[in-house]
Amino acid sequence: MDLLNTLVDKGLRRELPTREEALAVLATSDDELLDVVAAAGKVRRKWFGRRVKLNYLVNLKSGLCPEDCSYCSQRLGSKAEILKYTWLKPEDASKAAAAGIAGGAKRVCLVASGRGPTDRDVDRVSKTIEAIKEGNEGVEVCACLGLLSDGQADRLRAAGADAYNHNLNTSEATYGEITTTHTYADRVETVRQAHAAGMSACSGLIAGMGESDADLVDVVFSLRELDPDSVPVNFLIPFEGTPLAKEWNLTPQRCLRILAMVRFVCPDVEVRLAGGREVHLRTMQPLALQIANSIFLGDYLTSEGQEGKADLAMIADAGFEVEGAGTTTLPEHRADAAAGCGSHAASGCGSHAADGCGSHAGGGCGPCGDGDGGAVAEEPAAAVPAAAGAGEARTDLVAVRRRGAGTDLPPNA
Ligand code: SF4
Repeated sequence: MDLLNTLVDKGLRRELPTREEALAVLATSDDELLDVVAAAGKVRRKWFGRRVKLNYLVNLKSGLCPEDCSYCSQRLGSKAEILKYTWLKPEDASKAAAAGIAGGAKRVCLVASGRGPTDRDVDRVSKTIEAIKEGNEGVEVCACLGLLSDGQADRLRAAGADAYNHNLNTSEATYGEITTTHTYADRVETVRQAHAAGMSACSGLIAGMGESDADLVDVVFSLRELDPDSVPVNFLIPFEGTPLAKEWNLTPQRCLRILAMVRFVCPDVEVRLAGGREVHLRTMQPLALQIANSIFLGDYLTSEGQEGKADLAMIADAGFEVEGAGTTTLPEHRADAAAGCGSHAASGCGSHAADGCGSHAGGGCGPCGDGDGGAVAEEPAAAVPAAAGAGEARTDLVAVRRRGAGTDLPPNA
């Protein structure tokens, strides 16, 4: 296919595809699917070899959020029966993180529900970062606490945070249909603040919320312009008790096309297979590893993933290897730029920084933090965009997290 040859050539040169080319990837047929995966795989292997980076989520504070993100089980008014708890103590968070690190994770993602952190919350998280770093040399820590206020990114950076995650989630045009309590511009601003403070930016999307192909291409092009080091690709987990509970729009084939499109648009960026992979890709997960170079090990924020051991077996069986702590995730040209810079031009996925995180899976989050900040809208909030297509409702595969952080049971790692 000429399209795929063109996209591979561009990906190997770190050249931006056109919008039409990105849309054409999403429009390919099932007969062409393996060719699409193989083409995206060539680009993946050029920049990341056969390595898979493992990331481990620790939900520092779960549920009880004043924001109304429709996809989120932790949202205002959510009826999802998730774990709800307030801030974990630094020693407990550190213990949870240690399980993931022992399982092979080189990055720990510290996430808290809410609009954004108070300065006191930043203090708590700083102590948690220090506790994790003290016991685990070389481990990267990413914070994901929602919208940041002035100075908070600098404080997190000073406390040792390597990265900050804040997802754009969906296109600017449809953002208001998904969330009403904050704006797309708020999110962009927080990603920029993280960049400016010298943290590696991690920002991604959630597919399967009823968006169109054009919306998906829009958000991925916007991400490329923001130039994060890592792009988590979440597939909506339609939680019972949330407004998007009926949005079963994804098929494994669609998920693979979306991942391939992201890889072609952001060729040298860490593309992370994030929440919803087990639910939507199912037995096709190993094919997704041909495209994405990073996954979460074990459980998500509010839902359970497959067993950590199954993740490791899948990676080995697919002929990939877990990326070691001593290996730099990003290609040299991006890693070098990271070493020398604190602020980042929005020049496209072709430059800088150390690499990124990505959380807020189908379990939720975007802005996060405490119950403090911000306008709280009446519930239910957002109207849902028109559905994009039929996927099979697999509620049998959605399990609320009942182990690990916030419980007495050992974490899955
Ligand atoms: S995504 Fe984050 S800010 Fe939005 S409702 Fe969920 S926890 Fe709250």
